[in-house]
Amino acid sequence: MNDVVIVGAGPAGIAAGIYLKRAGFEPLVFEKEDIGGLLLNANFVENYPGFPEGIGGEDLAGLFKKQLSRLGIEVKRKEVIKISPQKGLFKLITDDDEIISQAVIMATGTTPKSIDIQGQTPLIGRKLFYEIKNIPPPKKGDIVMIIGGGDAAFDYALNIAKDVERVDIIYRSEKDKCLALLRERVKDRSNIHVHPTTKPLTVREEKEHVIVKCESQGKEIVFPSDYVLIACGRRPNLKVLSEDMVRDLSIGENGGTNIPGLFIAGDVKRGRYRQTGIAVGDGILCAMSVVDYLMGDERK
Ligand SMILES: Cc1cc2nc3c(=O)[nH]c(=O)nc-3n(C[C@H](O)[C@H](O)[C@H](O)COP(=O)(O)OP(=O)(O)OC[C@H]3O[C@@H](n4cnc5c(N)ncnc54)[C@H](O)[C@@H]3O)c2cc1C
Repeated sequence: MNDVVIVGAGPAGIAAGIYLKRAGFEPLVFEKEDIGGLLLNANFVENYPGFPEGIGGEDLAGLFKKQLSRLGIEVKRKEVIKISPQKGLFKLITDDDEIISQAVIMATGTTPKSIDIQGQTPLIGRKLFYEIKNIPPPKKGDIVMIIGGGDAAFDYALNIAKDVERVDIIYRSEKDKCLALLRERVKDRSNIHVHPTTKPLTVREEKEHVIVKCESQGKEIVFPSDYVLIACGRRPNLKVLSEDMVRDLSIGENGGTNIPGLFIAGDVKRGRYRQTGIAVGDGILCAMSVVDYLMGDERK
C-alpha cells in the first residue's frame, strides 16, 4: 500500500514528488517516457525564474531529474494504464502490476491534436511526427516541414533550423498565433520560410522524401521535405481515467477532484495556460493538498 502515487514525471509531477518527499512521504512516480515531460520538446526556456540567461528545455529537465535522484525519489519507467477508485483507495494498473494507493496525483500532461491530412497513417513515426523528440537526429542537408502557426511550431523551427538546410512552416490562417519574440527570431533565420494561408491536403512518400500537397489562395503548392512535424495544438491527457470518470470530473482550486484522494496538476488541467512555472506551482499545490488529505485520514 502506497500513501501517494504520482502519474507523470513532467514539471508538475516532479515538483509534487519533491514536496512530498520533504514532507516525509515516499511518493512513487510513474513515467512512461523520459523524465522531464514536454520540457524535452522545448528549445529554450526564458521565463522560468532562476535562470537569468534562459536554459534549454533538456537542460532544465536534466536539473529536475538530478534533484529527484538526489532526494532518492523513485521513478518507475512504466505507463499507468488505468486508475480506478476502489473502496476509498485507488488501484493503478500497469502492464505487469497492480498498485494500491491512498492518494493519486495525475500529472499526465497533454497529447498532440492530430490533423486531417490524407495519407499520413503509414508515415507516422517514420517521416511524419507529432513530437519533436521523436524525429531522428537531423542531418545538415535535411529539409523539415512544420505544420502549425503557434508558439510550439515556431519554437520547433528555431530548434531544428540550427542543424538542417531548410525549414518550412505552414499554417492555414493569415496570421500566426505565436509570441512576437519567436516570430522575430524566426524572421532572422534565413533558412526558415514561413507560409501563411497554406492548408495541407495530402502527404505521400516519394523515394527518400515526403511530398506535402497544399492549397494556398486557390492554388496548389507542393513541398518536398525529409520530415514533417505537426504542431497543431494539444489536448488534456486523461486516458488513465474511465469514460464515466472523465464525464463527471470536476477539479477544485487546490487540484482536488470530485473523487476524494484524486488530485490533478499541470498542463492536463490548464486549458491554454500551459507553462512550466504553472505546472510546478500546481504540482506543489496538489502535494500540499495530498498531505492534508492523508493527515486528515490518519486522524479519523
Ligand atoms: C515546444 C514547446 C516549448 C515550450 N516552451 C516553454 C517555455 O519557454 N516556457 C515555459 O514555461 N513552458 C514552455 N513549454 C511548456 C512546458 O513544457 C509545459 O507547460 C510543462 O512541461 C507541463 O508540465 P506537466 O508536468 O504538466 O506536463 P508534461 O510536461 O506534459 O509531463 C507529463 C508527463 O506525464 C507522462 N505520462 C502521461 N501519461 C502517463 C501514464 N499513463 N503513465 C506514466 N506517465 C505518463 C508523460 O510521458 C510526460 O512525461 C513549452 C512546451 C513546448 C511543447
